[in-house]
Amino acid sequence: MGLPSPSLRGADKVPGDHPANLEEVYRHCRDLGMRLSRQRRMVLDLLWAEKSHLSARDIFEKLNNLGRNIGHTSVYQNLEALQTAGVIECLDRASGRLYGYRADPHSHLTCLDSGTIHDLDVVLPPDLLAHIENETGFRISGYTLSLSGRRA
Ligand SMILES: [Zn+2]
Repeated sequence: MGLPSPSLRGADKVPGDHPANLEEVYRHCRDLGMRLSRQRRMVLDLLWAEKSHLSARDIFEKLNNLGRNIGHTSVYQNLEALQTAGVIECLDRASGRLYGYRADPHSHLTCLDSGTIHDLDVVLPPDLLAHIENETGFRISGYTLSLSGRRA
C-alpha cells in the first residue's frame, strides 16, 4: 500500500485508508453516531467475512443460511444506512447494486468468466498523475481503476 503520493496529499480519502478490522469498523460507526443494532452488526460481520461484492439478496440469503434471523427489508435498510455513512462501498451494476466491505477508494478487477469482482490497491506512478494534471488542468484528488480479464 505505501504512502500516498505527493499529488494525492489533501485528498479526503486515500487508498488503504480503511479500518483494519471489524472492531475498528464498529468504533468508526460509533464515532459517526450510528447505532449498532444486532442486524447492523450481522450485515457488517458478513461483509467483512466474505470480503467480496454482494447484492442485498446475496447478503439476505447468506445470513439466513447461517441461521441468522433477519428480514430482507432490514438487510436493505442497513446496507443503505452504512453506504450513506460511507462505511461500506456500493457499486451500481447493470444487474443491480453490489455492496463491499471497503469504503476507501480502490480499484476493481472483474473476471470476464465468472463475473467475480476483486478489490485491488493500484497506485499510479506520480509522474503519470502529474502528466494527467498537466493535460487537464485538474488536481487529481483520487482515482479508481476498473480492470477486466481472464485467469491466465
Ligand atoms: Zn470493492
